[in-house]
Amino acid sequence: MPADLHVWAVPLRTRFRGLTVRDGVLVRGDAGWGEFSPFWDYDAQESLAWWRAAREAADEGWPAPVRDRIPVNVTIPAVDAATAHRLVGESGGCRTAKVKVAEPGQSIADEIARLEAVRDALGPSGAIRVDANAAWDVDTAVARLRVLDRAAGGLEYAEQPVPTVDDLAALRRRSHVPLAADESIRRAQDPLAVARAQAADVVVLKVQPLGGVRACLELAEAIRLPVVVSSALESSIGLAAGIALAAALPELPYACGLATAQLLAVDLVAEPLLPQDGAIAVRRPAPDSASLTRSAAAPDLADRWRRRIAAVEARA
Ligand SMILES: [Mg+2]
Repeated sequence: MPADLHVWAVPLRTRFRGLTVRDGVLVRGDAGWGEFSPFWDYDAQESLAWWRAAREAADEGWPAPVRDRIPVNVTIPAVDAATAHRLVGESGGCRTAKVKVAEPGQSIADEIARLEAVRDALGPSGAIRVDANAAWDVDTAVARLRVLDRAAGGLEYAEQPVPTVDDLAALRRRSHVPLAADESIRRAQDPLAVARAQAADVVVLKVQPLGGVRACLELAEAIRLPVVVSSALESSIGLAAGIALAAALPELPYACGLATAQLLAVDLVAEPLLPQDGAIAVRRPAPDSASLTRSAAAPDLADRWRRRIAAVEARA
């Protein structure tokens, strides 16, 4: 394998998005290393934006930062209450928690217990948001958010509780809990539809699915809503692009979803982008050789990624 391409696969500490392993490719260019790590349910066409983000990182680098620390949230997967409590405690001082809800097979009692545990761990001044990954219909969301808002002692916002822009707009008229659009931005043909329909109070931007830091800055300017920058569960190489976006945005009123390095059992840099006192310092780490060796993917997976890149490049 050429030295400017590294295929990696590392275990996750906790099952997340149905995954127990995260894998991807690092590509090196004149400006540094970029990460290409679309999930396997994304086809070559949809992966093209992820490839552009990786090439931007490798070939151009990113616009200059306007801040040097990015407040971040701890992400609490669909775990039991005791684990949720522990994860907040181990989060590096995060004052905001994003709690996954609407997990198949779990009851509302599980969600209430998880939110109560997170509130207990954060204390009254912390902020709690939930992410339902588009699982509910509008009526279910109205009812659930009422219950979860109470269990959390107040929700900062609910991320993509319902699937479509129209659903978000309808829910927003029926619930006092602020709404954030995630899937309605990053997997939409028209990411501006959310703003036009007044369907959200906040938008979640992710660098890889939206085609890079510059593309996200342009989108943020066009949408004119507060932005939360979130990761796509990248290694610290990919997270650095999210940090660069959060650092370059003119306004950053909410904690970002970039503290996900702690979900990986192994990272690709010697000093991962982890929060201290609830914020990640703005910097761009490089991979270190020991981490590259430890994370190297098996040959069959490496071949699969090389075929994937070829398919994406054929569309570029
Ligand atoms: Mg989300």
